[in-house]
Amino acid sequence: MKKATFILFTLMGFQVSAQKIIQRDPIIEQLVSEVNADSLKSHINKLVSFGTRHTLSTTTEPKRGIGAARNWVLSRFQEFAKQSEGRMTAKIDSWVLKPDGKRVDKDQDMGNVMGILKGTDPNDDRIFLVSGHIDSRVSNVMNRESDAPGANDDGSGTATVIELARVMSKAKFSATIIFLVVSGEEQGLLGADYLAQKALDEKWNIEAIMNNDIVGSNNSHDTRIIDNTRVRIFSEGLPAFELDKKAGSIRNLGQENDGKARQLARYAKEVGERYVDNLEVVMVYRNDRFLRGGDHTPFVNRGFAAVRVTEMNENFEHQHQDLRTEKGIQYGDFPEFMDFEYLRKNTAMNLATLSNLAKAPATVQNLTIDTKNLTNSTTLFWQTPKSGKVKGYYVLIRETYQPFWQKKIFTTKNGINLPYSKDHYFFAVQAVGEDGNESLPVLPKVGM
Ligand SMILES: [Zn+2]
Repeated sequence: MKKATFILFTLMGFQVSAQKIIQRDPIIEQLVSEVNADSLKSHINKLVSFGTRHTLSTTTEPKRGIGAARNWVLSRFQEFAKQSEGRMTAKIDSWVLKPDGKRVDKDQDMGNVMGILKGTDPNDDRIFLVSGHIDSRVSNVMNRESDAPGANDDGSGTATVIELARVMSKAKFSATIIFLVVSGEEQGLLGADYLAQKALDEKWNIEAIMNNDIVGSNNSHDTRIIDNTRVRIFSEGLPAFELDKKAGSIRNLGQENDGKARQLARYAKEVGERYVDNLEVVMVYRNDRFLRGGDHTPFVNRGFAAVRVTEMNENFEHQHQDLRTEKGIQYGDFPEFMDFEYLRKNTAMNLATLSNLAKAPATVQNLTIDTKNLTNSTTLFWQTPKSGKVKGYYVLIRETYQPFWQKKIFTTKNGINLPYSKDHYFFAVQAVGEDGNESLPVLPKVGM
């Protein structure tokens, strides 16, 4: 569907209006419309009903503790799998945690709940992963007895993943999507670390990881800002993985703002804003916030493209707090402090990004920029992606000081010559599928 909106921009100091055509894939647009605030709220109320979901809490009681909560998520995934025509399976990937002298003081049964929606194309081995953490905590990170509702941290991310599985399990994507609910985040990113290592050892072709942690509340406790129109996406600049090997080329090419995670963040901004009205995706050029960590990091540290999605303004009176009232302030992570319409938009942003990626062809191969002669133009050439039907390619262009791609040129060929100097522009290429879905952009290697 084409949707025309008028935007204003400033040109040479004059405000002029221009028409910007927003092209939406009707299938993705339909899925986005099915993300529901009440549904998200009911997932969170159920998660809160388990009392505590502390990683070291009981795994044997039927209605309390992290074990019961994980089993409930598994049962939801199994229910959604029924509408997938056999493509979705669900399981708890379990292991036993040993005391680590830090935030684990006993042997503990662990489990990551996974809904795996297999892609429809047998030649497409790409995996897209979306995560939230099910464990919760109060003030003392070792306190496994007290109620820890964890409605927003990270009931919101967990509910996002459940809602995505509910809506997306009946749709067809060429690549595989994994809906991941991890344990052990608050005890040291343990569940994400376990899976990231497994993915590395087993050589999973994970192209993108969207980690959602604290995405459902719209206000700050101190600056009193209320805003449900913006969400942050954190992405690393220089890569944590093998930086020493890559630093020379990053420096030569000026690519410190173009790592895998940053490309994914840019993509999520463009596609998320394309499908979700009244939501701005705000890029943060940083892996995470001060004093905090997140489940994207074990993936980032192993070389995967992973980003963190987090609400714009955090309310620290409702995170990691013992439930109490002090000087008239109610502390604790309760659902009543959340904004489910805001959570709906953030979930829809995830849905649009994942769907567009998983419907798109794979990325182009061997993209090269020709540097054998001194010229003021640019020649790029590339090979067809490993999987997916390709309608053509977008060549993306931006000046080196610009944060976002400025021009998009469509071609059906596997190469292009452009009257733009490689010395002061960045280039990238996306493969475009038959329904217009774009792959992640790839930056060229320098070659002859
Ligand atoms: Zn968290």
